[in-house]
Amino acid sequence: MRKINSIEEAKEEIKKFKISDCAEDDVFFQALEEVLLSIYPLFKSGELYTLSAKNAIVKRLVMPDRVIKFKVAWLDDDNIVQVNTGYRVQFNNALGPYKGGLRFHPSVNEGILKFLAFEQILKNSLTGLPIGGAKGGSDFDPKGKSDFEVMKFCSAFMTELHKYIGPRVDVPAGDIGVGAREIGYLFGEYKKITSSYDGVLTGKPFFFGGSLMRPEATGYGVIYFTRKMLELEAKESLKGKICTVSGAGNVALHAIEKLLHLGAIPVSCTDSKGTLHDPRGLDLELLKDLKLKQRQSLQEYLKTHPDTEYTPISDYPKNAHAVWNIPCYAAFPCATQNELTANDANNLIKNGCISVSEGANMPSTKEAVSIMLNKGILLAPAKAANAGGVVVSGFEMSQNAAMQKWTFEEVDEKLKATMESICEKVAATAEEYHVKGNYVDGANIAGFKRVADAMIAEGI
Ligand code: NDP
Repeated sequence: MRKINSIEEAKEEIKKFKISDCAEDDVFFQALEEVLLSIYPLFKSGELYTLSAKNAIVKRLVMPDRVIKFKVAWLDDDNIVQVNTGYRVQFNNALGPYKGGLRFHPSVNEGILKFLAFEQILKNSLTGLPIGGAKGGSDFDPKGKSDFEVMKFCSAFMTELHKYIGPRVDVPAGDIGVGAREIGYLFGEYKKITSSYDGVLTGKPFFFGGSLMRPEATGYGVIYFTRKMLELEAKESLKGKICTVSGAGNVALHAIEKLLHLGAIPVSCTDSKGTLHDPRGLDLELLKDLKLKQRQSLQEYLKTHPDTEYTPISDYPKNAHAVWNIPCYAAFPCATQNELTANDANNLIKNGCISVSEGANMPSTKEAVSIMLNKGILLAPAKAANAGGVVVSGFEMSQNAAMQKWTFEEVDEKLKATMESICEKVAATAEEYHVKGNYVDGANIAGFKRVADAMIAEGI
């Protein structure tokens, strides 16, 4: 067993894990590299987990158990057959059944889903729940489709997917483009094909098997995590502080809601067309109506609040995003991957931001992460900060298995307790490995160790 003696040696070894040169896999390798460099303190130990250990634990962990890819043919409203690609990446089930969301978005490809599934393994590990890691989805775009077309697509998608999932095998949930409507259609088709009323999907509407608070869980969880992190690091609380948020979907809007509950002042949100900046604090009810009910552009907000600032995406500064140039105390990227660049990180720091909490999965580029950590920004990484969604999905599985319904308050209390305990575990691990205050390394090491230990205990 060879000891890794320097970070340069570790970087050389890690390059060997780049298993393909396909451009689609770049984002997957970005995630792998970040995690493997982060767990470098474990490689130096020359023990169980090193890159060249006999148990090949790293080599086994970075390769998915299987990638399922399938054709989805469906009939649109003009009776024309449309064809999309469907995927399910079942990455690792050492800790429990595969678990992770489905994403319906034109940008979906195998590389993005491998990156998301890999991150999901460590996130699920951090929750302490008995669940493995997976992700799936399709390049289908629900935007602009009728309800009937979405239903047709979901039925066709499930006709293939049902062969690979089950309550003790693999339990998908929602993600970008997959909300309660899509989960309802997917569940209906699964039930029809299998004649079985199983808790095979989470994120179901409450009246047929869903958990209360699943829609709020990720956004609220990000704020619970951040509140605890600021307390542990002896920083001022969020009350009365200006906060910037990106995204205007499920995660962003519920993060904004919890910020408002805590007396913070969320002033921004974004969608795929532009950035809204309302310095008086956002009108959440209007946003929910526009984005969740009417599925309209953020620009419509100006019809009710004409004095609000709106920057279309075409006017963003080069290699930067308008939202991260707004002065704030704490920032919450909640839209999509790689939406916070090195320039954005520098702008946040220049404008006095002290903490960045990732609601979206891997929203910060590699360069941005390194700048923020070097300049002492408190960075709450996605796999810890946005675990609230999967935590409540785990609660939904428990309620389904026990045929119980928990109240909103019960779920909220359990979510808060779990997010705070994840935060404490991450902080304690960082301290144990001599990187106190580095929540990125703390989360990667703690998440990795639990999965690796299970894999070693379960044999090859
Ligand atoms: P939604 O589909 O509800 O919202 C996504 C938001 O981000 C929308 O406002 C969308 O704009 C915007 N957006 C999406 N892609 C882009 C892009 N390429 N450029 C600019 N804006 C974009 O998704 P969620 O809120 O559910 O998810 C957001 C993030 O959080 C994702 O990274 C997801 O993986 C992560 N996440 C979600 C969880 C959940 O429980 N939902 C759990 C854990 C992580 P528009 O309105 O114009 O489409």
